[in-house]
Amino acid sequence: MFKKVLIANRGEIALRILRACKELDIGTVAVHSTADEDAMHVRLADESVCIGPPAAKDSYLNIHEILAACEITGADAIHPGYGFLSENAKFAEILEEHKITFIGPSAEHIRIMGDKIEAKRTAKRLGIPVVPGSEGEVTEESEAKKIAKEIGYPVIIKAASGGGGRGMKVANSDAEIGNALHMARTEAGAAFGDDAVYIEKYLATPRHIEIQVLGDGKGGGVHLGERDCSLQRRHQKVWEEATSPILSPEQRSEIGEICASAIRGLKYSGAGTIEFLYENGEFYFIEMNTRLQVEHTITEMITRIDLVNEQLRIAAGEGLSVTQDEIPFLGHAIECRINAEHPQTFVPSPGTIDYYHPPGGLGVRVDSGIYQGYKIPPYYDSLIGKLIVHGRNRPECLMRLRRALDEFVVDGIETTIPLFQDLVTNPDILAGDYDIHWLEKYLEAK
Ligand code: ADP
Repeated sequence: MFKKVLIANRGEIALRILRACKELDIGTVAVHSTADEDAMHVRLADESVCIGPPAAKDSYLNIHEILAACEITGADAIHPGYGFLSENAKFAEILEEHKITFIGPSAEHIRIMGDKIEAKRTAKRLGIPVVPGSEGEVTEESEAKKIAKEIGYPVIIKAASGGGGRGMKVANSDAEIGNALHMARTEAGAAFGDDAVYIEKYLATPRHIEIQVLGDGKGGGVHLGERDCSLQRRHQKVWEEATSPILSPEQRSEIGEICASAIRGLKYSGAGTIEFLYENGEFYFIEMNTRLQVEHTITEMITRIDLVNEQLRIAAGEGLSVTQDEIPFLGHAIECRINAEHPQTFVPSPGTIDYYHPPGGLGVRVDSGIYQGYKIPPYYDSLIGKLIVHGRNRPECLMRLRRALDEFVVDGIETTIPLFQDLVTNPDILAGDYDIHWLEKYLEAK
């Protein structure tokens, strides 16, 4: 096992990784920007190194400084968390050259899955069902019309290098597609430095269901069931559930086994998530994330498997701690992403936390780096914590979530807690009856 791990991230996920390292008796190095000197993960780490000014490009994305921190402290591995450098193939390669272990998959797998056209091709080849659409990049309007005719309108034009739900355009007819193609290409070029786009069928009322996988890099691999992340705002997840309220155990093992077998076929190493849209009983692959996800916690709650511990084991060459038949799916878990934002306008609300009281009790977990007196810097993502609740079944989980939200006090800033208090009593949510558009419609009607 590693002696010392450098955590190249901040906030709740840096803390999450630190906790897993401590339980394995691994030394920890926190890196931080000048804006994060008072962060909890910096306080709790064995060592810390300041790697630059607040702007992420000068600190958390500054490969040179992170490498220097590694050399100064003698860390033998880096965990990238999510976001920042977690899906940067070049970073993984540079670490390899420096004989530092990247806790994640190979640079090659990151690269394949980072190009969504290549990812879709690979998924198809491995027997994963995909959304009908273009075989590759589409540049010409005439070509776009031809594909739309084959698969039927509406269609969605997506950036090959896209991420974070950005750069997608829907077209409903031949009259709209030329403009949509042009706009999608321009936006993709500006946002991702790559104007390649592809076309797929736009599914009207799907759910977003994703499968958690772990691969040992040697052809072994398992799935840890699904997460239903259909409650989204601007294609960003807001509330996640495991298991999905609408999937049967048979469907779970069927799609899970398809994903696990793909992972084994790829000789994939580490944790990954295969994302699908699900409509009328069918799964359609949209992308694979080659890292730990924000919502990994709910999978941990229902399987009792520490995913960061598994990542560390795999990266250290120790393999998986479990086989497929040792992975249970127990009860139900829900995660609410608590953002420092106004609960109706979603305007960011950085500032000082005057009073903080997190909920507790059986089945309640709060993953957060905030504390009373902490000043949330304005430079980063507005996620300040995650409330994760587990129950023996979905109704118990929902009641527990309701009471946990009522206990949760974060004063001094606005948070999205009131939004979740509304959601947890909504009849559609209670019935598990929602698709990826439900939340936006609900917010518009409010
Ligand atoms: P990103 O990498 O930007 O997150 P994804 O491909 O994962 O992009 O898609 C993000 C979200 O966009 C999905 O969860 C879904 O809400 C919507 N979306 C993507 N593809 C389609 C599609 N073919 N039909 C309908 N909605 C889609």
